[in-house]
Amino acid sequence: MRGKLYVVATPIGNLEDITLRAIRILKESDVILAEDTRVASKLLGKYDIHGKRYISFHEHNEEKRIQEVEKYLEEGKVISLVSDAGTPLIQDPGYRLVKHLREMEFDVIPVPGPTAFVAALSVSGMPTDSFVFLGFLPHRKSRRKKLLDKMKELNMTFVLYESVHRIDALMEELCEYFPERSVFVAREMTKLHEEYISGLPCEIKNSLIRKGEFVIVVGKQNEG
Ligand code: SAM
Repeated sequence: MRGKLYVVATPIGNLEDITLRAIRILKESDVILAEDTRVASKLLGKYDIHGKRYISFHEHNEEKRIQEVEKYLEEGKVISLVSDAGTPLIQDPGYRLVKHLREMEFDVIPVPGPTAFVAALSVSGMPTDSFVFLGFLPHRKSRRKKLLDKMKELNMTFVLYESVHRIDALMEELCEYFPERSVFVAREMTKLHEEYISGLPCEIKNSLIRKGEFVIVVGKQNEG
């Protein structure tokens, strides 16, 4: 019998945000493929899951790991893929692995749970009937500009991820490109100092605490 790969969502802050099924699947797994094995073993330890075989799996060794994972699956092993937080593959490694395993007709099963952009959208008060998820904007200036220009044309809610290092630059850009559009910033969701701010980008950029992780939701033109 061939094994299975489970793609398991884990909390984005509050460790209670894990599903019963995720805990069971992690317990039943032979191998845990983890973005950072120390983060994963600490997380699993909180749920009393010990003695697992951990294999590091990040953007720099994804290609190299594919054959190894395939071998384990051929042996009938159950493998769970976890990232440091939230849903694997959502701005996290795993795409090439999942694509390959699907092509090889292995079972790849989702174990759904938290994703930062969905959590932010759900409390943003912005139109969510349709939206564009952009994740982290490209660093290259020309590509970044092209994308923001496109968002200007497209009258849709869009969602961005940003780290503390680049939040200032991003808020400056939003203030320049979308001065009239409502913006919602979710900072450190589900953690001790979680914070949610709505307003125009030029207002928000001055009041934002520059600490932690951010999801930014930009509303449609003339709506909020
Ligand atoms: N896989 C994750 C998910 O399902 O959302 C995303 C991983 S990505 C590498 C990390 C980014 O997600 C952070 O820079 C931030 O933009 C966002 N993020 C993750 N956790 C967050 C939280 N608790 N509060 C706000 N943003 C968060």
